[in-house]
Amino acid sequence: MLGGVIIFHDERCAGYATPGHPERPARVTRSARHLREAHPGWEWRVPPAATREMLLRAHSEAHLARIGAGKNFDADTPAHDGIFDHATRSAGAAVECARAALRGERAFALMRPPGHHATRDQAMGFCYLGSIAIAALDALAGGLKRVAIWDFDGHHGNGTEAICEHDLRIRFVSTHQHPAYPGTGKISRKNVFNFPIPPDSPHVHQIGTLRASWDCVLAFEPQLILVSAGFDAYVGDPLLSLDFEIADYRAFGQWLAHSKIPAAAILEGGYSDDLPKLIDAFLTGWEP
Ligand SMILES: [Zn+2]
Repeated sequence: MLGGVIIFHDERCAGYATPGHPERPARVTRSARHLREAHPGWEWRVPPAATREMLLRAHSEAHLARIGAGKNFDADTPAHDGIFDHATRSAGAAVECARAALRGERAFALMRPPGHHATRDQAMGFCYLGSIAIAALDALAGGLKRVAIWDFDGHHGNGTEAICEHDLRIRFVSTHQHPAYPGTGKISRKNVFNFPIPPDSPHVHQIGTLRASWDCVLAFEPQLILVSAGFDAYVGDPLLSLDFEIADYRAFGQWLAHSKIPAAAILEGGYSDDLPKLIDAFLTGWEP
């Protein structure tokens, strides 16, 4: 195992914005500046964009055509100039992270747009392409038999679930506030394991639920763990009513490290001004 964390990042991901939208460029620009200063020994790499072959494992031709044509999907998820390129670069970073994990590296994708709400045929919730599902399917195409996706973003990863359910080589495990956007994620079935958390429930219950979800990941004995690392379950996040602390994110990173299973993580949500510190805590806990 090599030392340090590898950050997959492309500065162009800050190149689109809607005024007033919570999913704003400063999320990644401030996080990149913070991580470069706090961890000068970490390695930064610019990932290649996901190929069409990779995208088509998770999405329909019609969906790719609509995004390429700049069609609006909903008010949360508008048609920015070049959004197809932004989304394919973000998906490519997820694929590269997973491949790095299988080489024994610990990699994090610091990119936008996020991906876990995008279904096979629909962009929604700030997400256009299902980056982590694309990465999981790429790993399976490379010969793996069991890939787990652990989604601790405070919202349900409905898009990842929709793409991956029925593929029993994948176990999808999500913790999220419920009720909350997008309203799904109450029921578990087959390879889908949802751990809803009521808003404003006791902290010990929230973290206990996280631990149960992590145990569910480990019980699958995955060859690779892909983490949808969203940071909007943080107590200071403006979008949700959960109360994870910075120390909790450090603990999640430590759980990953202790598992000894190859793992990669990608940024999903997280909208508080403390996002750089939350990412730092998670990666520092995980660091070799
Ligand atoms: Zn979220």
